[in-house]
Amino acid sequence: MNIAADLTRTNGPNMQQLSQQVRFQKSDGTVWFGEQRMLLMQLTSLTNFRKEQILTVGLERAKGFFMRLGYSLGQQDAELVKRLAGDLPPIELIRTGFILDSLKGSMRVEELKLEVSTKNEHFYALLQMHDSYEAEMFISELGLTDGPVCWALAGHASSFASTLLGQEIIFKEKQCRGCGDHQCLLEGRPATEWEDYSTYRNYFKSAPIIDELYELQDQISVLRHKIDNSPSLGNFIGVSEGFQTVCKLANKASAGKVSVLLLGETGVGKELVAKGIHDNSPRAEQPFIAINCAAIPPDLIEAELFGVVKGAYTGATQSREGRFERANKGTIFLDEVIELSPRAQATLLRALQEGEIERVGDNQTRKVDVRVIAATNESLLQAVEEGRFRADLYYRLNVYPIDIPPLRQRREDIPMLTDHFLKKYEAFYNKKTLGLSDLASKALINYQWPGNVRELENVIERGLILAENGETIDAQYLFPSMSIGLDSQVISAEGGLIDAPSQLMQKPTATAGQQSSSWMEQALEQSGSMASIEKTLLQHALAKADNNVAEAARMLDMTRPTLAYRLKKLNIEVA
Ligand SMILES: [Zn+2]
Repeated sequence: MNIAADLTRTNGPNMQQLSQQVRFQKSDGTVWFGEQRMLLMQLTSLTNFRKEQILTVGLERAKGFFMRLGYSLGQQDAELVKRLAGDLPPIELIRTGFILDSLKGSMRVEELKLEVSTKNEHFYALLQMHDSYEAEMFISELGLTDGPVCWALAGHASSFASTLLGQEIIFKEKQCRGCGDHQCLLEGRPATEWEDYSTYRNYFKSAPIIDELYELQDQISVLRHKIDNSPSLGNFIGVSEGFQTVCKLANKASAGKVSVLLLGETGVGKELVAKGIHDNSPRAEQPFIAINCAAIPPDLIEAELFGVVKGAYTGATQSREGRFERANKGTIFLDEVIELSPRAQATLLRALQEGEIERVGDNQTRKVDVRVIAATNESLLQAVEEGRFRADLYYRLNVYPIDIPPLRQRREDIPMLTDHFLKKYEAFYNKKTLGLSDLASKALINYQWPGNVRELENVIERGLILAENGETIDAQYLFPSMSIGLDSQVISAEGGLIDAPSQLMQKPTATAGQQSSSWMEQALEQSGSMASIEKTLLQHALAKADNNVAEAARMLDMTRPTLAYRLKKLNIEVA
């Protein structure tokens, strides 16, 4: 130890005077340094604590913790020194700090260089730290690391000097025994003289892990709130606004017995909504009977729905109950209700109004308690006007209409639906794929989906069948008849350039006329401004012409000066 030598250089309080500030309070078992209560504790405990910190939160975060711990200690030590020897010149106050370090047992400072100008405009310190407790902790418990490890000591020195001198000083360890150097060397300069000052300073900022945790907690509560409040409806899946509206309406209808009319294009998921309403209703434990009225010949539909007695017509070899009786106390879902024969329409109206049915060929009235959910993808009102559908039945069914939007109006739901169908068919075909390629996902989002969710389901099923086990499902597997390229462009039927993915915007069988209106549609939807459409077009022509402006101009049927002018105006640089 070389304390005596250090002490002779300072006019401030010496080791003995400082050590007198340490008092052991006999009466209550506390230890004091000046006016601050201290704690004598085993270094091993701190070592274990530090080890745990590093293992739990990682080296970088642990470094931040200990640097801030040192920073806080340094501030308090500076206050103490100021109180004890405030009238000394700054350089002597700094040196008093060195003695304090020895007294506290954290290290012994050997001053290699210390320059403090009287007005504090210049500061430089190069200090050797002997017996750094931090280096010792590291070497004994954690082994050597890549960088300096005397974090708290560097933090301590930084805040100690900053507080005493009234300007931001940063100390950094240039060498450290903790990373294999033969000594621990601390260099101090005004903060602004360090090049990496701003990043280094982050270590002194209050624990960002807490902010991060708070932020994550906020996110969780927002998400939880969303989940709690986001309506769901059985296997009718989605997150979009259109989806949520349908769910809210359907869930409200669930509670009562009101007849529901589901509207929407073919394949939008009307049966799923109907099942969802049933499953959320008090009838959930009772039967749910679905019937597609278009799938049954008109002359048989009445018997199918309401039952038949033996001999009512040729082929009615025995009496049997119809779907309504089977659905008693539950729900019946009549898809394509517009296809009901006039007789069936009349019987349905009676069932709705009186809760009574009669089997075909029977004169016995049977009571039924059935909730009716009807669906159509055609306009019922128009059918009424054309005399194909009873007006009174229409009004009876239309008390609670729910319009289910087509898939192209709820594209946000496509990824979730895709995932759902993928899981379903992977299980069904006992196959495990790596999921969709990025291009395939993009293709699904861009496609127009005339067949809606049902078409999406079919496309996924086909893709899964075509893909090998353990393989990625490529766009080609989903849309075998289309050429899909990423950000590539093709010539349209009219000779213009279009983005290849825009091909996904129409059916595979679309005609040239449909194609051209479709890519314009997409161009408008995606770029929205003439300038951006023009910019894309010009950039593409340039790229195709290898940045030869004259060539690109020919391609675009423009003069070279005109093209040059447009390029300049649109800020397009020619490489
Ligand atoms: Zn060190």
